Amino acid sequence: MRIGILGAGISGLSLGRLLSNDFTVELLERGSIYGGIARTKNVNGIAYHKVGGHCFNSKYNDVLDFVFKEVLSKSKWHNIQRNAVIKYKNEEVSYPIEFAVKEIYNFDKELALSITKDFLNANDDFEYADLEDWFRKKFGNTLADSYFLPYNEKIWNRPPNEMSPAWVEGKLPIPNKMSFFNALISNEEDKMPHSTFYYPDSNDQNTFIDSLAQGLNITCNYNVDQIVYNSNKKCWIVNGDKEYDILVSTLPMNILPSLIADITSEIIEAAGNLKYNKVTTMLWETKGTERTWTYVPDKANFFHRYIHIGSFYYPRKNVSITEVVGTKTYEEMVENGKQDPFLIKPLDYNVSDHAYVVFDENYEIATEKIKQYLASRDNIYTHGRFGEWQYYNMDVCIKQSIDLAAKINSKYSGNS
Ligand SMILES: Cc1cc2nc3c(=O)[nH]c(=O)nc-3n(C[C@H](O)[C@H](O)[C@H](O)COP(=O)(O)OP(=O)(O)OC[C@H]3O[C@@H](n4cnc5c(N)ncnc54)[C@H](O)[C@@H]3O)c2cc1C
Repeated sequence: MRIGILGAGISGLSLGRLLSNDFTVELLERGSIYGGIARTKNVNGIAYHKVGGHCFNSKYNDVLDFVFKEVLSKSKWHNIQRNAVIKYKNEEVSYPIEFAVKEIYNFDKELALSITKDFLNANDDFEYADLEDWFRKKFGNTLADSYFLPYNEKIWNRPPNEMSPAWVEGKLPIPNKMSFFNALISNEEDKMPHSTFYYPDSNDQNTFIDSLAQGLNITCNYNVDQIVYNSNKKCWIVNGDKEYDILVSTLPMNILPSLIADITSEIIEAAGNLKYNKVTTMLWETKGTERTWTYVPDKANFFHRYIHIGSFYYPRKNVSITEVVGTKTYEEMVENGKQDPFLIKPLDYNVSDHAYVVFDENYEIATEKIKQYLASRDNIYTHGRFGEWQYYNMDVCIKQSIDLAAKINSKYSGNS
């Protein structure tokens, strides 16, 4: 059987890898090279992650086995200890903030007391009006008002009371009262997910992406703009010239319906209700730091996060990436950077397309309608961070690929 995979980012590549032994697989990619938003650009020998900064780890053993045993041997990665801080009240405190109350106590005892009282008294009844309510009930009002709400307003480009809390459980590590109390009285290390992570020894995430793509049949510079189902031949026809028995799209869910020739207006309308954010990043030469990330809730600095990508490299380099949600000009990025003497010189700049899907009050109904519609059609799947309209990291994209490959194998095995 012929499988067409639309889009060759981490999701398309990992699925292609997993299906290629049993099926005839072709990937169609709009860009001039595969890798999607995880791909880096070489800037004077530095791997610039134009969208974010892609470190790797996973809580899924099958993902770790696939990556380290079948794609890029574990000996070709180095392991890095997370060293993330939050710029909070003009001080730097460790991430996650709810376990850093002792550090806050060192510079503001009243604030530390207020955080503690509010956290321990927060009444979580598991009914949340919106994302703001969720933060208040999970962390108490002081941490919500001084950190979570301003930070989340920056990363979602809208107030948290206009967002759904439905996506957040399982995505953010959530402390309970005992773990909060434990952090107050003990000196335990950070054991949260991604407290350590992997980066390729080559100091470039493209090494992993190139290994993932090895042996795959990928057609680049191919923009998919039409998908038609031919019921006589029982196959999908892409752009009028490529035929597949099974189609897997990793294209954004808000775009895919508009490409399907005989789609209903109800589904087009649902796709139109899906919102997403772009990100603008800038690569800088910096004074250098041992930190891995700095989070910035302060509104006066429009960067919400510094990714100290130089700390992912061995040996360390004095470079960082600053990130802001939405579109900013090169000049705006440079101007905003001037308030921080840590940032010495801009080296490169990028504005992404899809970066973060927005979980507003419409997204659940809209995504459900589109998924149900696609399930009613023969042999078509939507897959990946934007294909499933989710907040997936690379490892979850790979996990979803492992699960989808197993599903396709069991449904179509014997027909390959
Ligand atoms: C700012 C940021 C930071 C991140 N940091 C990390 C991190 O540190 N660690 C981590 O594990 N994950 C991280 N992620 C998540 C990670 O980037 C994604 O989970 C993963 O790269 C998504 O892969 P994908 O294949 O699903 O999507 P994409 O990479 O978007 O791939 C989709 C592909 O489809 C192609 N395409 C689109 N339209 C068409 C068309 N019409 N025709 C043909 N091709 C088309 C695109 O060009 C693209 O190559 C981060 C994400 C962001 C936004």
